[in-house]
Amino acid sequence: MNDKKSGSPVQQSLETVLTHHGRVPDDQFGFVNTPVYRGSTVLFKTLADIEAQQQRFLYGRAGNPTTESVEAVITALEGAHRTRLVPSGLAAITVALLSCVQAGDDILVTDSAYEPSRTFSDGFLARMGVTTRYYDPRIGAGLAELMRPNTKAVLAESPGSLTFEVQDIPALAKAAHEGGARLIVDNSWASPLYLQPLALGADIVVHAGTKMFVGHSDAFAGTISTTEESWAGVDRVRRELGIFTSGDDAFLVARGLRTLAIRMKEHQQRALEIASWLETQSEVVQVLHPALPSHPDHALWQRDFTGSGSLFAVLLAPAPRASVAAFVDGLSLFSMGYSWGGYESLCLPVKLGKNRTAVPWTAQGNLFRLHIGLEGVEDLKADLAAAIERYSLAR
Ligand SMILES: *Cc1c(COP(=O)(O)O)cnc(C)c1O
Repeated sequence: MNDKKSGSPVQQSLETVLTHHGRVPDDQFGFVNTPVYRGSTVLFKTLADIEAQQQRFLYGRAGNPTTESVEAVITALEGAHRTRLVPSGLAAITVALLSCVQAGDDILVTDSAYEPSRTFSDGFLARMGVTTRYYDPRIGAGLAELMRPNTKAVLAESPGSLTFEVQDIPALAKAAHEGGARLIVDNSWASPLYLQPLALGADIVVHAGTKMFVGHSDAFAGTISTTEESWAGVDRVRRELGIFTSGDDAFLVARGLRTLAIRMKEHQQRALEIASWLETQSEVVQVLHPALPSHPDHALWQRDFTGSGSLFAVLLAPAPRASVAAFVDGLSLFSMGYSWGGYESLCLPVKLGKNRTAVPWTAQGNLFRLHIGLEGVEDLKADLAAAIERYSLAR
């Protein structure tokens, strides 16, 4: 980052990066924001120009000023070599994995992984001749024992977005590197404001930009940020697959990023307040939120993270399906649906079964995942208190 006047590098806070990076008003007639660039063809003036291929933009599929405006911000936040914007969080995971493997290789995926990552690994990668094994998210340095000569990638997600195990990223990175593999970390929960996996030894960081970056449940996006060593592979796979994100979607990501810091702060505070309050409520067996002292991985979270996200889960005492239905069907502020990261609160009943293979999920009771939005905290508590009461009565 350069100081505007002196042009010399300066260390700036993440808030300043979010508000000032990735936009150059002088290139946009003085307008503050980089606008939506739509375009396929980029024109060359002369034969010499098209032969030299030295223009900043050559063809729209490789990116445009709007997509680059997002990439610049995420690169700075993650302390990365470079970043690519892709059309979804899932695309970020699949491109990252594909950049590490070829037929005959093996990968290790955390048992707590976002479920479509498993579908991709067990389906697409298996068809391409890549094997996948799942590991205990709490394995840490024990990962070394699972490494095989052909293991080329380790996928971590910290915390897991359904069950909230925190992963020991430095230990995983060490084991992966000693075994000749790359470590990919899904950092969607914390955002780069509260965790920077590259600094902890990861090689590739992916985000579901759809969630906190966009922040308004109105667009899809993903990002892939890498070290210098891992960049060429990611860029090649993205280019070869023809993966491109439109200027319209990129604009919504850039717009969301400008307020990410204050939104994260508010989501964090509300989520923590509701999580602590839930711990005192009847029917609640456990609240799975890494920033709570009761969480089994709290010490690890404290060591590596500087804040916490909007998302956590609550385990209620065993009760039949009628109780689960009574809980969610009568909610007035929390809505039921996939995804998270928007301004509105969400509640999702979680079924863990086939999607846990390394460490079976044995907790008794019903698990609900909550995304705490920007509504009034007391209103949200009242909505949940009434839901717990209905849960009890329906038993
Ligand atoms: C939602 C999500 C994804 C996938 O993002 P999409 O944009 O929906 O494809 C990946 N990882 C995590 C942790 C998520 O929550």
